[in-house]
Amino acid sequence: MNDDDAIHANHRVQHNYPAAVKFCALCGAEMALRTILPDRKRMRACPRCGFVFFPSPKLVAGCLVVNAGRVLLLKRGFEPALGMWTFPGGFVEFAERAIDAAVRETFEEVGLRVDPGPLLGVYTDPVNLNAQVVVYLATPKGGEPTRTEEAVEVRFFEPDAIIWESLAFESTREALTDWLQSVKRQ
Ligand SMILES: [Zn+2]
Repeated sequence: MNDDDAIHANHRVQHNYPAAVKFCALCGAEMALRTILPDRKRMRACPRCGFVFFPSPKLVAGCLVVNAGRVLLLKRGFEPALGMWTFPGGFVEFAERAIDAAVRETFEEVGLRVDPGPLLGVYTDPVNLNAQVVVYLATPKGGEPTRTEEAVEVRFFEPDAIIWESLAFESTREALTDWLQSVKRQ
């Protein structure tokens, strides 16, 4: 394999993070368990350069794009949950605002520019406690949603037409449930 060849992330290996991290990301020395002040938690620290490894959750941000009472969902073209339906979203990049990531991911996944509205909620999937999903309501700014490599099918759903048994994640189900409840209250 050439170093420049594009690769997919190996999800099985990714899930070994953070437990299997052994070496300092900064200097390469082997980490040792130390008691870290002020919390007195046992964390891995580098005996050579002093870097402390603080594992942190992964932040995901997405948009529930609503147009004339219908919600935009995409059929995922990649693992995990290949072929299941969810709203556009993805990982927030390092030093990126969550709201900017939600708008960026929506454009990358379905080619739609949106105005992000209020925060709908923050959701955590019970099978992946490491990912916190920030979901904004959003409205289309123009253009039509299009299929991409990441979204093999894209369409707006009437509330009654949502295919609940084919949703990708528990967080998808919870966000759609919260949206429907907010619509009913109006
Ligand atoms: Zn180090």
